[in-house]
Amino acid sequence: MNKIAVLYDAGQAVLSTFDLDEVLQRILAIAHDYFHLRNVAILLLDRQSQELYVRSQIGWDEGQDKTRWSPGQGITGAAANQKQPVYAPDVSKDPRYFCSAKSTCSELAIPLMVRDEVVGVLDCQSDRIDHFDSETIDLLTLFSTQASIALQNARLYSLEQQRARQLQAINAIAQQTTAVLDLEELLGRVCGLIQDAFQVSHVSLFLREDHDLVLRAHHGTLTPCIPEGGRFAANSEPWGKILADSCTCTENDLCKAPASVKFFAETASRMCIPLVSFGQTLGVIALDSAKADAFRDGDQQSLESVADICATAIQNAHYVDRVKQLAYLDGLTGIFNRRFFELRIMEEIERAHRYGTGMAVVMADIDQFKKLNDEFGHVLGDEVLRQTSSLFNQQLRKVDVVCRYGGEEFGILLTQVNASQALGVAEKLRKLVEGWQFPGVPRTVTISAGAAALPEHGTSRDELVKAADSALYAAKQAGRNAVCLAPFARCHSAS
Ligand code: GH3
Ligand code: MG
Ligand code: MG
Repeated sequence: MNKIAVLYDAGQAVLSTFDLDEVLQRILAIAHDYFHLRNVAILLLDRQSQELYVRSQIGWDEGQDKTRWSPGQGITGAAANQKQPVYAPDVSKDPRYFCSAKSTCSELAIPLMVRDEVVGVLDCQSDRIDHFDSETIDLLTLFSTQASIALQNARLYSLEQQRARQLQAINAIAQQTTAVLDLEELLGRVCGLIQDAFQVSHVSLFLREDHDLVLRAHHGTLTPCIPEGGRFAANSEPWGKILADSCTCTENDLCKAPASVKFFAETASRMCIPLVSFGQTLGVIALDSAKADAFRDGDQQSLESVADICATAIQNAHYVDRVKQLAYLDGLTGIFNRRFFELRIMEEIERAHRYGTGMAVVMADIDQFKKLNDEFGHVLGDEVLRQTSSLFNQQLRKVDVVCRYGGEEFGILLTQVNASQALGVAEKLRKLVEGWQFPGVPRTVTISAGAAALPEHGTSRDELVKAADSALYAAKQAGRNAVCLAPFARCHSAS
């Protein structure tokens, strides 16, 4: 046997590719052929459980390669424990022997070492008794270092790859977050990017709202136990500690944890990273893995950098949301302004057309408001405007939109209603105001309103608003404190 050739071939195999499985298969094939072995395998050490499992093998009996060896079990376990080769020239006489192939007569196990640490075992079995002489054992020991180098290379390579992926992700997230100012879009994208870069099963983003944490976005392959929008009290576990200390929390073994503390059915380990911006904890990024012990220290640092970028971006998006909101809110009453009315009416008309549902516009105007101002002053007039706005808002459904159209006139969009229902709503508002005792105003305040519905009174924004305006005018003409349906078909006057 040409010893140099064996070692040379093994060295070439190691250098040929970065793919660990391919390298190991080549190394095993060389060992199998040169040393005439019945079967040969590379077992790796599971760091957490300290069990050995088969990573690559040639010639093993069907199903045997699924076995896991408890620490110290078998000839392989003994080699890992002793950190040196263990040889059983006749396995039938060795009490340590653990059968993995019926035909095996002798077994040699050589630990694979990276620095001083055992990372696995090269296991060689022969169907001849005392197959390995001392020279072969020495040569196989030398040979096994090639397998160790391959393992070490593969590990470094995958770490390098992972780091490069993470750096790319941090970069991409930074770029995306400066480009995307819409919060919903931002949250969705961030989850996708993190899941991809950090190769976890699922990524979720929880944001703080008052005293709760709300699941705002998630992305991945696990089965959610909570719906999007699901809420948790911010002081409940696992949140309380993360939010209070603003520090990352890793749970390595959630396999047996009750469903109540899991966000996903298959979660086995989880890392939660707080989103902190200017000392304020805005929420938490949760990474869930279906594998136990899935997170490394290196991941945490990169993820905390990602979380910092996200927190700033979320804060920015919040500001943008707020500015947008302010642009659509009326400063005096706090309800939406006319700009918002114009935007939403187009959306609502389009929705009504698309789904064939109704919608209606109600224009409401406070009667004799000029006189009210003259009698009680502008300050009280302002208060009447505020209270009327608030009455309308309380009375209407969440899906309806109440806007201050201008002065003491309100534009109201009612979704999924027909003409007579819209008239009913207008009448309800009229009665409400008529019966309301406005503080500081020692007389009745009233409104008049006109309603127009799609499609009866118009199919475009202009037609509907014009029809509702005409109906309002008709209500005023009818003596005020009245509601009318366009085109003045029915007119209810209180008097
Ligand atoms: P009508 O019943 O026909 O609607 O009579 P009106 O007096 O309510 O209508 P008009 O259009 O003649 O007057 C509207 C008044 O509303 C005039 C204006 O001073 C007052 N007004 C408009 N905006 C505000 C506001 O923000 N605060 C106060 N206090 N008054 C306002
Ligand atoms: Mg008026
Ligand atoms: Mg008016």
